[in-house]
Amino acid sequence: MKTIYLDNNATTKVAPEVLEAMLPYFTELYGNPSSMHSFGGQVAQKIRIAREQAAALIGASPEEIIFTSCGTESDNAAIRSALATQPEKKHIITSRVEHPAVRILCAQLAAQGCRITELPVDKEGRLDLQNLEKSMTPDTAIVSLMWGNNETGVLFPVEEASAMAHERGILFHTDAVQSTGKIPINLKNNTIDMLSVSGHKLHAPKGIGILYVRRGTKFSPFMIGGHQERERRGGTENTSGIVGLGKACELAAKNMEKENTYVRKLRDKLERGILGRIPQSRINGDTGNRLPNTTNISFEFVEGESILLLMNELGICASSGSACTSGSLQPSHVLRAMGVPFTMAHGSIRFSLSIYNTEAEIDFVAAQMPAIIERLRGMSPYWDAQAQAGKINK
Ligand code: PLP
Repeated sequence: MKTIYLDNNATTKVAPEVLEAMLPYFTELYGNPSSMHSFGGQVAQKIRIAREQAAALIGASPEEIIFTSCGTESDNAAIRSALATQPEKKHIITSRVEHPAVRILCAQLAAQGCRITELPVDKEGRLDLQNLEKSMTPDTAIVSLMWGNNETGVLFPVEEASAMAHERGILFHTDAVQSTGKIPINLKNNTIDMLSVSGHKLHAPKGIGILYVRRGTKFSPFMIGGHQERERRGGTENTSGIVGLGKACELAAKNMEKENTYVRKLRDKLERGILGRIPQSRINGDTGNRLPNTTNISFEFVEGESILLLMNELGICASSGSACTSGSLQPSHVLRAMGVPFTMAHGSIRFSLSIYNTEAEIDFVAAQMPAIIERLRGMSPYWDAQAQAGKINK
């Protein structure tokens, strides 16, 4: 059975060009980039190139790039650094819809005496910047707001938010794990101080990430040890991962237009195909301001997990909630924060596409979904009750 992979916000396929670039670092180019000999030095040279490639994708300078192990580490490092460099400040502003890499860290910091403000979102998943304005205090160490939401794709106005923080001398971090490579990012045009990237969301392998730290920003390392990454992240470099991520960044810049034309068109076609065929289904999130590859669709009166199981039987991969929250039957914290009704939030599926998807795959999925939903609704007493009450036009 062929796999149709529509779960690219969970992780992506390693691009063939990326794999090819990485392979020598497992075989002949195994030197340590910190070594004095030229055998290691040639690897250090390739890391320099990867740093330039990564910087170019987000409009940064190479020395502003710190290679980390993942998006989670980057988020943790940014927030912890803000607290460590400003020990007198104990307040963090974030949002209710952040990834657990930020939310769970903030919950732990709250238990250790920090004050956390989680900004609300409206029913479309949008942020009201007036709430940010009202929440900032002289005690605020950092504002951390995600750029693109992993579950709905909704984009936050992080550039405006960073300007507001900047005016008050407050550090601003954004989790750009989902948006990097999907929408243009140019850090020369804004006042974002720190930004997180994860390799495995943009066709590089798992286990490599980036924390961008703007030149002049005080930084306290999360991992200490050796002198790597100009003493901002100790630990022998993941050389193959870094080289792969550099290549993936170069490819992402080239494919940016395709993401916003080809992938967007496929996503929109999938949405039309599903919503047009399935009653009581709807899109969650602001359709006018989303990542081009993501859609989150609710099917009323069915369980997301049951939908996934039937999709899985056809080789179709997607997620209910985020990959990190699936496995629990709690509706996702993102949909709850948006006030999505319980009967809708439970039956939500996230489809996330990539440049490797084809129109034939999208046609197949759109054609299969009605039968899946009908089968499950046929087993649902709630659905029957609604139909009998004349509330549903079956
Ligand atoms: N932030 C967001 C928005 C994400 O979607 C994810 C992963 O799903 C992460 C952070 C964590 O990234 P990583 O898996 O590289 O730790």
